[in-house]
Amino acid sequence: MRILILGPQGSGKGTQANLLAAVYRIPHVATGDILREAAARGSELGRRVEPILDRGDLVPDDLMIDLIRERLEREDGFVLDGFPRTLPQAEALDATLDDIGKPLDAVILLEVSDDVATRRLQARAAEEGRADDSPEAIRNRLRLYHELTEAVVARYRSDSVLVAVDGEGSVEEVADQIEGALIRIGVRSR
Ligand code: AMP
Repeated sequence: MRILILGPQGSGKGTQANLLAAVYRIPHVATGDILREAAARGSELGRRVEPILDRGDLVPDDLMIDLIRERLEREDGFVLDGFPRTLPQAEALDATLDDIGKPLDAVILLEVSDDVATRRLQARAAEEGRADDSPEAIRNRLRLYHELTEAVVARYRSDSVLVAVDGEGSVEEVADQIEGALIRIGVRSR
């Protein structure tokens, strides 16, 4: 099973992707987690991306594309979270999956308003203290989502595998809606 999960920061992507990974026994490939781990380890990649992450800016496309291509080539199934965030990244993802003959089975879009996303990110800031959950970085990340990532959503929206789900409910409600959507598009049986 190959699933792409899209939605703004604070839409619950990471939480839902973790649940899907457990249900389908597939790895949760989250680019934000990969980058944060690299930064915590202090690897060359980590040192390069840490200031970018802290500001809530985007890591350059070429770097992200190389990273994800190498990772997806190794995996049969996955739930991909945090990539693609720009049109060049989306084009590179489609080309990579095409090359390796592993098309996506489903693209799930979690829809939440900026108000709900901001409130959730502020709550997470209080709990986890992530550097990029500062008020400025939160504003920057949501701005970049609207400016760059919505074009990615539009690209997949014209594709029949995209299902939009209301992400404003509880974790269980959203998970139920995702399950229903996967059944509707024939990816999952009852
Ligand atoms: P996330 O945990 O998905 O919110 O990602 C945390 C941060 O990692 C983002 O704010 C970006 O700085 C960086 N990042 C993650 N994925 C990407 C991507 N696909 N393209 C560029 N930057 C990314």
